[in-house]
Amino acid sequence: MLSPFNDLALKGWKSGKKVVLYDTTLRDGEQMPGVSFSKAQKLRIAQALCDAGVKHIEAGFPAVSKREAAAVKAVAGLRTGAETLALCRARKGDVDACVDCGVDIALIFIATSDIHLEHKYKCSRERAVEMALGAMEYAGERGLRFTFSTEDSTRSDMGYMLSLNKMAERLGAERIGITDTVGCATPESVAHLVGKICAGAKRPVSAHLHNDLGLAVANGLSAVRAGAAALATTVNGIGERAGNLPLEEFAVASELLLGADHGIDLSKLTSVSRLVARAARIETPRNKPIVGGNIFAHESGIHVAAVLNEPFTYEPISPELVGGARRFVLGKHTGIAAIRMMLGSKKERLTGAQERKVLARVKSRGEGNGSVTVKEFWRIVRGAGNGR
Ligand code: MN
Repeated sequence: MLSPFNDLALKGWKSGKKVVLYDTTLRDGEQMPGVSFSKAQKLRIAQALCDAGVKHIEAGFPAVSKREAAAVKAVAGLRTGAETLALCRARKGDVDACVDCGVDIALIFIATSDIHLEHKYKCSRERAVEMALGAMEYAGERGLRFTFSTEDSTRSDMGYMLSLNKMAERLGAERIGITDTVGCATPESVAHLVGKICAGAKRPVSAHLHNDLGLAVANGLSAVRAGAAALATTVNGIGERAGNLPLEEFAVASELLLGADHGIDLSKLTSVSRLVARAARIETPRNKPIVGGNIFAHESGIHVAAVLNEPFTYEPISPELVGGARRFVLGKHTGIAAIRMMLGSKKERLTGAQERKVLARVKSRGEGNGSVTVKEFWRIVRGAGNGR
């Protein structure tokens, strides 16, 4: 159950807005240090994303290596019905690599911030325009569909980006992208940027957001409200540094808070999250929103007693919504309601004094160990029942 203040704050906002979530777990997600997906893993993840309703899958960056190109080609050949995308620098060789892999759409990008132009490309703004122009013209010649993004948009000159975007539209770009490459934007600055880019664009606008300051989801919601029609996500938010806009967090937040229509089956999110965590060998933090191990776990006596009566007292969403499961943890903070619930689950009956004894032992054991396992609990119950 959500806050009624949300609706007040959204006055005038129409729910049902179509938003494309184009998932880049297999590209930006894989750029997370230490993560490398095999072809088989990429295929399995792509299939799971499709099954969860993701309709645009960025399969990789074909120019990275022959093996990467082969994996991208395999994903493009899956024929799941989803469009496959691949990253493409403003170079003819990258365009060729995308064509060779058989992807549906190349994500052509050029960095536009002065810091990237000076220290990465070591070229002028004019030269970067030529590079982008050359790559997009060439993609057109090769019959490859493409989108165009300005890298590091949140630190770039607005006029410069607008003129590049205009050129990209003229050359046939299907979408115009803004990127918060180092995750330094705020919801307010994203609203300003996306609003201006949308006002100057004839094509749908996308946003690719990083989470360096923990604002990716807030920035994504702001981007949607400002007119963005597509958002890049990764499962579990994996990616460079602090990672990307997390698919599971954004799918739930945008649907529940903004009424966005993205077509994702929320009940698949937990299983997709576990699949990617295993493949990436990145353990999901227990307090990770939506999919972390603690999201539907309750220990504190006050919370357990209330949740047993009405789960929405201490849960904003139901575990079933996202394919998760509620669990109760026994430990230092346990109260009598949890003890009675556990006993009731096996139709065990103890006297009030025995129940209090069990509670005291659970709490003291939890204090030492952090938590009490179910097995330990029943051992304590047997002890108390026997008067020990
Ligand atoms: Mn990125």
